[in-house]
Amino acid sequence: MSAIWYIIFPFATEFIMKMLYRLLGIWSIWSPLAMITSLTIPFLILNEKIRIVKIIYLPLVYLPIYINIIHILLFNSEISTNSFMSIFETNLQEATEFIVHFRSMKLLMMTLLFWGVGIVSFLFHDQSFCDYKIRIRIQKKYLITSFFIIYPIFCFGDHRYKYPFEKLLFAYIEYRQDFKRNIELLNKRAGFRFKNIKSLVSSGEPQTYVIVIGESVNKEHMSIYGYNLNTTPNFNAMKSELTIFQEVRSAHCHTQKALKGILCFDEDFANGDIITFFNQAGFKTFWLSNQYTSGNCDSLTAMIGSMADVKKFINKSHYRTKLSSNCDEELLKYLQEILQDEAKRKIIFLHLMGSHLPYSRRYLPNFEVFKGRSKDARSVNVAQYNNSILYTDYILKSVIDMVKKLDDDAFVLYFSDHGEDVTEAQDSPHSHVESLSTPAMFDIPFIVWYSSKYKKINKKFIDRWNVNKVYKTNDLIHSIVAISRLTSDEFSEKKSIFG
Ligand SMILES: [Zn+2]
Repeated sequence: MSAIWYIIFPFATEFIMKMLYRLLGIWSIWSPLAMITSLTIPFLILNEKIRIVKIIYLPLVYLPIYINIIHILLFNSEISTNSFMSIFETNLQEATEFIVHFRSMKLLMMTLLFWGVGIVSFLFHDQSFCDYKIRIRIQKKYLITSFFIIYPIFCFGDHRYKYPFEKLLFAYIEYRQDFKRNIELLNKRAGFRFKNIKSLVSSGEPQTYVIVIGESVNKEHMSIYGYNLNTTPNFNAMKSELTIFQEVRSAHCHTQKALKGILCFDEDFANGDIITFFNQAGFKTFWLSNQYTSGNCDSLTAMIGSMADVKKFINKSHYRTKLSSNCDEELLKYLQEILQDEAKRKIIFLHLMGSHLPYSRRYLPNFEVFKGRSKDARSVNVAQYNNSILYTDYILKSVIDMVKKLDDDAFVLYFSDHGEDVTEAQDSPHSHVESLSTPAMFDIPFIVWYSSKYKKINKKFIDRWNVNKVYKTNDLIHSIVAISRLTSDEFSEKKSIFG
């Protein structure tokens, strides 16, 4: 009979955890403590020697709950399919950086406490801490409470609830299905062709189009968008040369989902992607990435990028060997080479690491302008984020200067995949987590620079631009096609920000 307690207690524990999380809004230190107590109660009040239960309990109950607690401490949300996406599409370098960024006494204390109490409970499991009669009474009490109160609430209260092990397993299965679907899509897409791709200009001038995809940049932290600190001095100085769109939001705040929307027609790879489009439009395509990839097929973005004529994933070479990552300016030397390429029509995608966590790793020491208050970790973190924006401003200015020198029919389009919630307020998670979805995670910059030749060739088109157009990035592929002055049966002018 007692075996059932090993099943019921984790249910009750998870339920308590969720309730505390919802009531308090934040994951307080008391919630895990309550969980640990609850998890160890079966060991304290039961002494039946059901060793098989003991063996099953550790991997199926105790470990998954520990993983979930750590996930909540790190990301302020429970483990989900997105977590597996991040785990399997993150290489060792990124994972280590993440842990370094989040290393905290809270995490360490939780680990020691959780496993300390767990191991002690396991060791003393065979010795009863209670008199037999008391034990029976406690069992009856818990049985009634569980079945008549906790279990029904759990069943009807939240359909998303899953048993801890089940939660991990289902999230993993879902992730594998996504992965398999990507591979199948790639196979199915073999031979895919867009219909009637045409260029709307016939000047014969060399075309050099550059799309810079930023990372985790919230426009509210850019002085060009009105932030009170001077985080974009270069952009401010060249403001008259820029077109700054004010109302652009990302459709998702998870990188993979956001980029799938940006790089594919109708947010679906099966309907064609941006690289295939430009390949078929007769452009020479380039993909330069400072983003992590654990293999060209492990991430949809890397898979799309790898279809470019020339691709370079610069962080891959440092995989497993180096803790510190490349700063984005490492990409500039490759860009310089590409700009000398003799192809007449070039489109270059630069995928920056931008302001990805940990912020302090995204810029060089001479960009450490904002400091934050010492002994105030949150304000230091915000300052580091601002430094990463300052650094990105420098990168973008460098890209524009390099393209400007060519005197081609050229533009540089910059936007971020999604935003980031990073303020000094206590409820700011300092991250981008889809399950939280705060406005700051979606408010992104969208800025265009174009050359004088581009302006001359496309004057009427530019005159139609409305910088206050409310726009979501799940249609952004149409905007990239439009600004490149191309059209096809798949393209919809209505879905373009420039339309
Ligand atoms: Zn991202």
